[in-house]
Parts: sequence; C-alpha cells; structure tokens
Amino acid sequence: MEQQYDSVEVYRVKRLLTELANVSGRGTELISLYIPPKRPPYDVINQLKEEYGTASNIKSDQTRTHVQDALVHIMQRLKLYKQFPENGLIVFCGYVPSPDNPANLELKYYEIVPPKPVPTSLYRCDDHFHLDILKSLLKEEDLIGVISLDLSEAGFGIIAGDRVEVIEVITSGVGSKHRQGGQSARRFERIRENEINEFFHRVAAHAKEIFIDTYRVKKLIISGPGMAKEDFFKGDYLDYRLKQATIGLVDTGYAGEEGIRETLERGEELIEGVRLIEEKKIIDRFLTEASKKDGLVVYGLEPSINAIKDGNADLIIISEDINTVRIEAQCRSCGYTTERFVQGQDVFKEKSDMAQQPCPVCGKSLWDIKVQDIVDYVTDLATQVGARVEIVSSKSEAGVMFKNFGGIGVMLRYHKK
Ligand SMILES: [Zn+2]
Repeated sequence: MEQQYDSVEVYRVKRLLTELANVSGRGTELISLYIPPKRPPYDVINQLKEEYGTASNIKSDQTRTHVQDALVHIMQRLKLYKQFPENGLIVFCGYVPSPDNPANLELKYYEIVPPKPVPTSLYRCDDHFHLDILKSLLKEEDLIGVISLDLSEAGFGIIAGDRVEVIEVITSGVGSKHRQGGQSARRFERIRENEINEFFHRVAAHAKEIFIDTYRVKKLIISGPGMAKEDFFKGDYLDYRLKQATIGLVDTGYAGEEGIRETLERGEELIEGVRLIEEKKIIDRFLTEASKKDGLVVYGLEPSINAIKDGNADLIIISEDINTVRIEAQCRSCGYTTERFVQGQDVFKEKSDMAQQPCPVCGKSLWDIKVQDIVDYVTDLATQVGARVEIVSSKSEAGVMFKNFGGIGVMLRYHKK
C-alpha cells in the first residue's frame, strides 16, 4: 500500500504538463488518449481506425490531414506494444508550433506512463490537450486518516489522493447540554464531563484500531465544529503515535460522515502541505550541515556536479525551478567532448556559440550537440553512483532559503581529503 513519492518522476511529468498546457492547435486537431490498465492494444487500435474514418468528414483540408496524420502516427506507436504498461498509458499527439519557429508546425508525439493507474478511457480531439486526468494522477497518495467529531458523534475516514472513504461512525451517548428540571447544576456538569471523557476514550480506541492496526496511516487530521476536536486532541486520549502524526485541526460545519467529506475540501492546503513538511525536513538537514564549519555538504552547480561525479553524493537536492540545461558538444572528427551549463533563456545562443568554436584537439569545428535538462542529467549520474535526488518546491519558505544556495546542493558521504 505504501508508495514512495518520486519527486523526480513528478518533476518530469509536471515539466511536460507545463509544455503541453501552453500548446494550442490551429484547429480542432490535438489528440488526447487515456488508456486504462489491461485495455488490449487491438481494442485501442480499432477505436483509432474508426476515428480515422470519422475524421474524413472534417471540412477543412488542413485540419483533416492533421488529425489523420496524428491518428496514423499514434497507431504506429501503439502497435509496438504487445500489452500496455501496468498503469496504462497516456498519449498526446498533434501538430504544434515549432519551438525554433512558431510559424512552422511539427507533429509531436508524447507518451506517458503515469505514476498511478489511468482511471478511465478517454479519446478527445480538440484545440488543446486534455490534461486534467493526468494532473489528478500526480497528486500525492499517502493515506491520511480523518477523525471528525463533536459531542454527539465521531466519524473515521481515510483520504487517499482526492478520494475519501468513510470507515465508521460512532455516536457519543453524551446527554444534551440542557439540564433536566430537578437536577443540581454541579451534579449535571459532573455526569456530562464523565460522559464526554468516556466518549473521547472510545474515539481514541477506535482511532487506534482503524488508523494504526488496520490502515497504517502516516498522517491524521482531526476535524469538526466547535471545541470538541481541540479538547480531544489536547487531552490525554489519543495514542502518542497518532498524536505525532496529526498534521492539523480543521473546522467543519458537521461531524461524522458529513464532516469527513467536508474535511477533504477544507483541509486541502493541509493535505497538499504534507509534501512541503517532508521537503522542509530535507532542507533543514541541508541547512544544518551548511552552517557547520566542516559540514558534509556542497552547493552550487559546479561543486555539486563534481561531488556527484566523484561518487561522493548521498542526497542531491534541486529547486524545481532551477531552469538549467546541460549542453554537450562532441567533436565529430576526434570525439573530444565539452559541456556547458546554461540557465534561463540563453540556450539557443549558447548552442550556436558552442557550434562555432574550434575543437581544441583537432582544430575542426564540426560538433554533435545535445541539450539535456539538468534534472535528467543529474538523475542519470545519481543512478550510476547510488545517490538519491529530491526536487523541492521553490515557493515554500524553506524552498526559498534553499534556492539562495544556487538551486542545487549535495549532502556528501565523506570529507574530501
Ligand atoms: Zn576534434
């Protein structure tokens, strides 16, 4: 059930999402295709053949040709599969403006194996790509427990991604706030306090059974109207592990089943903040080392890359908007290789500058030039040396602090002699 959050994979898909979101077609000619797990390739191909036939009715010559070209291209690619990957497959294809010259159109094909199963079949031909389902698949899927209580009932639920499931609802048996005639006020208060105390203990026992013994949630949210949730949380009821796992208290209009559903909406920031809490821990570790006189850490592009190449990297941290590429030029005549790291928009200029330089070994200037996103480059290197890569947000407070170190830092394994 437990799934490791892969920040690099999420970074890659997010980068692609940004690229695709900015694309618009000349006409209704951009194809989005979502294939859920276990759907057989021949079934998808048959559907695309039908769409090809339907497309012959499109009046505009250019749009018709573009749609049919894209369909043929998708079918060719999908025919390479005996069966689709375990999580299914997502395909985007169509004629989009070329990055070098937006007046030119080029046929682009994107294929994504999503981090979670594709939930539904979808075929769309539109003037933009349909990205919503893919976006929803990127949300984090840690199980979060919810207790939603007031003094009359308590609901127990599980949030997984954007789904919520109500596991159980119990009633309190706590009497009404209003005293019956003839009862002394003090006695009434005491009975009521005992009832509340007993109810909170019962809630805690159910919570332990559901969230520790059965579902092993990593995080817990306590919600409900009024003060009951605070009293319950602050009092000596909840198992210490669940107390530690509690990420926040959320005000809702209702308790019980309705309260659990409300928690998903009202607690959205809290739920998305879970990843930010993990990031903060990572960055705090980095900052602690960086503040020591001989801390096990380097930062900035060059020192970081060198440490990784030396095999001295344990954890590599990169800001999500580092926006840097590595350009590699290899001499076609003698094989000499050189590299540059470029930040921002200057890639094109830098590329042509490298192309014009004479090779320092053989003097010719015939280069093969490759451009690679820094995250892809570093991740490849990291895999070779067994280091871990974490991409961190640059919007959170900790993320902003980290960015000041050059957008990349490495926790080292040992001190260099
Ligand atoms: Zn050369």
